[in-house]
Amino acid sequence: MRVEGKVAIITGSTYGIGEAIAKLLAKEGAISIVTGRTEDEGRRVVEDIKRSGGRAEYYPLDVTQESRVKEVADAVYGKYGRLDILVNNAGIAGPNKPTHEYTESEWNRVFQVNVTGAFLCTKHVVPYMIRQSSGNIVYISSIYGIIGAPDIPAYHATKASNRVMAKIDALLYAKDNIRVNSVHPGFIWTPLVEDFLSEQSKKSGLSIEALKKELDSRHPIGHIGEPDDIAYGVLYLVSDEAKFVTGSELIIDGGYTST
Ligand code: NAP
Repeated sequence: MRVEGKVAIITGSTYGIGEAIAKLLAKEGAISIVTGRTEDEGRRVVEDIKRSGGRAEYYPLDVTQESRVKEVADAVYGKYGRLDILVNNAGIAGPNKPTHEYTESEWNRVFQVNVTGAFLCTKHVVPYMIRQSSGNIVYISSIYGIIGAPDIPAYHATKASNRVMAKIDALLYAKDNIRVNSVHPGFIWTPLVEDFLSEQSKKSGLSIEALKKELDSRHPIGHIGEPDDIAYGVLYLVSDEAKFVTGSELIIDGGYTST
């Protein structure tokens, strides 16, 4: 019960890493506010949590819609009288092609979800955290917020933004007892990576299995990660065990960035 009674909004928790975070926080006593655009998936995650004895609710949310972001923050605070944790997890990869082949609208769309979406959620949650003089925000960045790679350029640029957004907010809100950190996953087996590999498979003719093996080999530990590997890192950061941790970047990548 490391986060007992805490109210946590997890963006993009209808599947993938966000789902694992919502489930683990609920298992550790939090009320998980499951959000995302796919209603049946959101309700499935909530049902799974409830079946295991946890507390959760689903709110439909597209993080690019500011009025809806505000509505959800207001509704959650209105109902529970507190808002302790925000995990800015919602993200998209965008097209996989070189920078000069991107259209402006393709580039902007990735920024709209990964950067502006996270900004809007922080913007509308922070006033409640200031009011209660406590809070915790985690930005899910990536190893590609730290190092470069010759693919999905807009995505990598957004993940670098997420890393610095966490540091800026850590400095801005330290006086309000709000801690803000970023998490930097290596490759994690989720629909995002499955889609990425199936697109690569179509282009290269290689099987998804072969491509997955190649991804495994890039991680010194010998394989890519699972959503729970990231969820445990988030749990630590938002728990009181990390009470002296802010503006920090937690890399969870099987050694990828150490080579
Ligand atoms: P995923 O499997 O594609 O899941 C993405 C989540 O974001 C879904 O719940 C999706 O829900 C939601 N989402 C997408 N667009 C949204 C929008 N406009 N508004 C609200 N929610 C939206 O991706 P993932 O692999 O779990 O990635 C989660 C986060 O981890 C991302 O920020 C990603 O950059 C980061 N990350 C992932 C990896 C990896 O290897 N998987 C590595 C490093 C970092 P709906 O479709 O229902 O809206």
